[in-house]
Amino acid sequence: MPLQLQNTFSQTKERFKPLSQEFVKVYYCGPTPYNFAHIGNLRAYLFSDSVVRTLRYLGYKVKTVMNVTDIDDKTIRDSMAQGISLQELTEKFTGLFLEDIKHLSIISADTIVPISTAIDTMVEIIQKLLDKKYAYIADDGSIYYSIKKFPKYGQLAHLDMKGMKSSVRINNDEYEKESVADFALWKAYDTEKDGPNFWDAILVIDGEEVVVKGRPGWHIECSACNLKHFGPEIDIHMGGIDNIFPHHENEIAQSEAYSGKKFAKYWMYAGHLLVDNKKMSKSAGNFYTLADIVEKVPNEKPEMVYRGFRLMNLQTRYRENFNFTFDRLGAAIQTVKSFDEVLRRLKHYNAPSRKIFRDFREMMQQYVQAYIECLEDDIGTPEALAIVFDCFGFINSGIDNNSFSLEEKGAIIDLLHSFDTVLGLFDFSLLDFTEIPAEIELLLIQRNEAKAQKNYPLADSLRDQIGENGYKIVDDKGGSHVEKV
Ligand code: AMP
Ligand code: ZN
Repeated sequence: MPLQLQNTFSQTKERFKPLSQEFVKVYYCGPTPYNFAHIGNLRAYLFSDSVVRTLRYLGYKVKTVMNVTDIDDKTIRDSMAQGISLQELTEKFTGLFLEDIKHLSIISADTIVPISTAIDTMVEIIQKLLDKKYAYIADDGSIYYSIKKFPKYGQLAHLDMKGMKSSVRINNDEYEKESVADFALWKAYDTEKDGPNFWDAILVIDGEEVVVKGRPGWHIECSACNLKHFGPEIDIHMGGIDNIFPHHENEIAQSEAYSGKKFAKYWMYAGHLLVDNKKMSKSAGNFYTLADIVEKVPNEKPEMVYRGFRLMNLQTRYRENFNFTFDRLGAAIQTVKSFDEVLRRLKHYNAPSRKIFRDFREMMQQYVQAYIECLEDDIGTPEALAIVFDCFGFINSGIDNNSFSLEEKGAIIDLLHSFDTVLGLFDFSLLDFTEIPAEIELLLIQRNEAKAQKNYPLADSLRDQIGENGYKIVDDKGGSHVEKV
C-alpha cells in the first residue's frame, strides 16, 4: 500500500505523491519564543517529527524548514515588560526550545528561520499584493489583506463565507473564526506597543514610494519563510490544529495571491494535548513545561520521563486530542523500561553460531511489512507500536527458550534499529559492552563458588562488595553476570 495522508484541505485521506522526485518540501510552524514551550506545543513537534521520520524511513529525501516567530504581539510585549531587547528574549527561549526538542529526540528542522531574517521577502510579497490589489493601506497606516479579493478564502478551514461583511479589519495576530476579517500584513508603528521594535518597509503605493515604519503581521512571516527557502510550492505544511484558522488560511491567501500557484499540497494537523480535558495553553494557565513534568516525577531519571512522554505521544493517533495525566506518563515509563530490559537480555544472550532459519527470516520480513503498512496508513504510530510489542514478545520467548542463533540475534538487533528510525525510543547503548574490571569479575567468581558451596553469608557479603563498587549481579537463565549500575 502506498503512503496515505489525511489532507485537511480535502478532508480525505489521499495517496501521497510528491511534487518532485528530487526531494519532499516540508514546512511546519515553529515556536513563538516568549516563554518556555509547554508540553502541548511539544506534542505538535513530536507529530511533525513522526511524519518526517516516516517519510525518510519509506525512502523519501526530505528537506524541512521551520520558522521561529521572533516578531509578534507576545514577544514584543514581553521583551518590553522585562526591559530587555526582543533579540535577547527570543534567543533565550529559542535556545531552551531547541534543548527541549533534543531531549525528546525530535530531529531538528534542516533549516530553522528566525523570521526577523526574512523581512525583505515579506516586503517583496506585500508589494506584489498591493500591485495586484489584494492589499491596501488603511486609515490607521497599516497594510491589510482584502479577503474578498481572494474567492478561495476559507477553503482550508471550510468556512461558510456567505454573508461575510467585507468592511471588517483585524490587527491582532490571533482571532476566532467568528471574527473573520481583513488581516494586517504590515502593522503601522505604535510607540506604546512596539517601543524600539520597528522596521522600514519601502513600498510603492499608487505610484509613490512610501516608507511604512512598523512591523510584520504574524501570517506573512510564514508565507515569506516558505517563499525564501522553498519557493512558491511545497509538499506538506504542518502545525497544531489551532493553526488552521486564521494562520494557515491567511498564509494560503497571501502565498497564492502572490504566486498564482497552489501553495501546499497536503495540510496536516496534530490534535491538542489536553489537561483536565481542556486545551493546554499558556493563556489558560493550565500548562506544564517539560521541566515541570520531570520535577513531578522525581523517582525517575529525566531521560526516562522524556522517553515516556515521547512514547505517550506515539501511542496516540496524531489527529486525536489526548488528555495528559501523570498516571499515563507513569505507565509509558514502565513500557520504556520493558524495552530496555529486552535490550539488556539481548546483550547477554549467548548463542551458538548457525545459519538464519528460513522461518525466522520470514518472521522478520513479516514484522517489517506490517510495521510499514501501519505507518503508510496516515502515520499510524499506535498501530506500528502494537507490531513492535508483538515483536518484543517474540524476542523474549526466543531468549527464554534459547532458540535464536548468534546470527538471528544480530538480525533482531538490526530490526530494532530499523523500527527505531521512526520511533526514536530505544537505548542502544544498553547493547554496548562496558569493560568490567578484573577484580569485580573475580568477586563474582568467588560469590558463585560460595553459592555453589551453600555458604550463603559469604555469597551475600561478596554481592554487597560488588554493589559497593557500583556494580550489580544479574542472575539469568544462562548464569550470572555483572552490570554497571
Ligand atoms: P506557539 O509557540 O504558540 O506558536 O505554538 C507552537 C505550536 O504548538 C503550534 O503549532 C500550535 O498549534 C501548537 N500547540 C499549542 N497548544 C497546543 C496544545 N495544547 N496541544 C497541541 N499543540 C499545541
Ligand atoms: Zn506559521
